[in-house]
Amino acid sequence: MSKVQAHTTRSPEETERLGASFSAGLGAGAVVGLIGELGAGKTRFVRGMAMGLGSKGFVKSPSFTIVNIYEGGRLPLYHMDLYRIGRADEFYEAGLEEFIYGAGISVIEWADKLPSLMAGCTHIVRSRYGATEDERLIFIEII
Ligand code: ADP
Ligand code: MG
Repeated sequence: MSKVQAHTTRSPEETERLGASFSAGLGAGAVVGLIGELGAGKTRFVRGMAMGLGSKGFVKSPSFTIVNIYEGGRLPLYHMDLYRIGRADEFYEAGLEEFIYGAGISVIEWADKLPSLMAGCTHIVRSRYGATEDERLIFIEII
């Protein structure tokens, strides 16, 4: 049985804090799928995860344009954003699975573009706009 926790945040900083506390519960090999429309706060949440892990900053992957690697924290954080990915199989052809099976934490924006990837997620975070401009509803599911 999976479990969903519902959160409401009222500022970008609050979403970052939620990402930070979420990251504290993650171990090596966690694969987090982020789902939600543009502006829903996915990237803010990832920034909070990186802060929570104590990352010192990110570098671009030398080989993959859609991957940022946050280093220097408790675990490496591989941040992928599939927003601009074209064909679904580009992800696999590019060898991006290498990150997912690695020892760090992977977090993938627009993970729902690839159903096979979604199937491998250990956590799914859905975010959407709330009732006011700065409100976001964030649902965290542990698979
Ligand atoms: P996404 O990655 O889902 O497209 P971003 O995190 O890049 O979204 O952007 C979210 C935008 O919404 C930012 O401009 C941020 O300042 C704004 N924002 C306003 N309120 C919130 C909130 N509660 N949580 C996160 N972002 C918020
Ligand atoms: Mg984003």
